[in-house]
Amino acid sequence: MPKIKPRVPLPKRPPEERIKDFNEVALGYDEKLAIEEASRCLQCPNKPCVKGCPVGVDIPRFIKLIRERRFEEAYKVIKDKCPIPAITGRVCPQERQCEKYCTLAKLGQPIAIGALERFVADWAREHGIAVEHAPKTSVGKKVAVVGSGPAGIVVAADLARLGYEVTMFEALHVPGGVLVYGIPEYRLPKKIVYDEINYLRELGVNIEIGVSVGRTITVYDLLDEYDAVFVGTGAGHPRFLNVPGENLNYIYTANEFLTRINLMRAYLFPEYDTPIHRGKRVAVIGGGNTAMDAARSALRLGAEEVHVLYRRTRAEMPARKEEIENAEEEGVKFVFLVQPKGFIGNDLGNVSEIMLKKMRLGEPDASGRPRPIPTGETITFQADMVINAIGFYPNPLIPQTTPEIKTDKKGRIIVDSEGRTSMPRVYAGGDIVIGEGTVIEAMGWGRKAALAIHKDLTINKKI
Ligand SMILES: Cc1cc2nc3c(=O)[nH]c(=O)nc-3n(C[C@H](O)[C@H](O)[C@H](O)COP(=O)(O)OP(=O)(O)OC[C@H]3O[C@@H](n4cnc5c(N)ncnc54)[C@H](O)[C@@H]3O)c2cc1C
Repeated sequence: MPKIKPRVPLPKRPPEERIKDFNEVALGYDEKLAIEEASRCLQCPNKPCVKGCPVGVDIPRFIKLIRERRFEEAYKVIKDKCPIPAITGRVCPQERQCEKYCTLAKLGQPIAIGALERFVADWAREHGIAVEHAPKTSVGKKVAVVGSGPAGIVVAADLARLGYEVTMFEALHVPGGVLVYGIPEYRLPKKIVYDEINYLRELGVNIEIGVSVGRTITVYDLLDEYDAVFVGTGAGHPRFLNVPGENLNYIYTANEFLTRINLMRAYLFPEYDTPIHRGKRVAVIGGGNTAMDAARSALRLGAEEVHVLYRRTRAEMPARKEEIENAEEEGVKFVFLVQPKGFIGNDLGNVSEIMLKKMRLGEPDASGRPRPIPTGETITFQADMVINAIGFYPNPLIPQTTPEIKTDKKGRIIVDSEGRTSMPRVYAGGDIVIGEGTVIEAMGWGRKAALAIHKDLTINKKI
């Protein structure tokens, strides 16, 4: 068997340089590196990688086109299925999706599909390549999309391309969902997010910001005006630890901390007017991607030490391996098998210490990972700032104000396999349906719902 060449590494800025700013860490392939990596693709006729892509990008085809230097055509192939490739190429956990199914993964290292997607999307942006997808004729139907994260973006793009009149409603003052307020600039530059979302405007999607559905208007109001409503409101409600001292100063939820930094650009205070506390010894509670984002952002704000405190061990951390490695390279430290029991403050009411329960691993729980069990021992940990990144709940506002939309015990909207909720003409997808997922999973749900809306309103005319 011929020897499999190793994957072409993605160039990155060195840690000592990158922790001084919020500029992008990964630099991306140039043309030469992209062609070299694309040349490793075996062009399997059964395309196993496509199976791992919830939006069904024709991966071998775009990689073949890169190999042939036909970058513009490669871009069109990707864009046909994925409206925001400069984003997905950067943030998708490819190791759990397309790259997991790559034939080369069994023989050595899988093709760097994400890095190649990113290369093509960046090349297209730099060369001003526009994709003509504007519909020729209107189907004469109106759809409201609530929430402008990845799920809503796909629904809006798919339906606009089919000729629907789409209006997107977003509670915040900019569209993008977690892409703008959660994922930091050094992983996903916001200029890229805004450019990608502009594609929706090119397709004729009307974006209404500052509209909180359930407060400003209701789903019932929307149903009066629109033929169908898609709910893609995400899982943006922080979980609290519910332990004593949680309200002390300088204990943030990751949601607040990251929103201040990413959306409000507090790291540029006073040029931007939202402030942020800059802790010296920062503790981040949790082991997921949000915890990694919070820890690495705290370092960039000038913290002397950042510790991630996690209740299981490294092997069970849900964060992407690459993100854990990036954090480690930058100097983030990890303390395993600990869980906060309470916080102690100083005379000013500022957090100064965390009381931690020591844990050990027990039998697997519902998640399949070993359950953390307290050993009975308690230790204290010094910290002048704490960021709670233990997870999020689905956003409850719409289910609370629209009881016909049924939810499960975890507050997730219940849908059929195609994205229909229990309420006629109302569809849902993304984190509000699956809980905390990924960008591409949310997009996959968006695609299903768009298809169901199209079937119900136009093909089968069920409504
Ligand atoms: C910090 C962080 C880092 C992450 N990193 C990654 C990563 O690297 N890779 C990855 O694949 N996934 C990552 N994820 C997960 C991913 O971002 C989500 O799975 C994805 O964004 C879900 O998309 P969505 O469209 O369902 O919801 P969201 O992106 O949450 O968007 C929902 C939108 O709806 C709006 N909204 C909510 N309620 C209302 C209302 N009542 N009216 C109007 N608008 C409303 C919200 O303001 C928001 O803009 C990360 C998540 C977080 C929090």
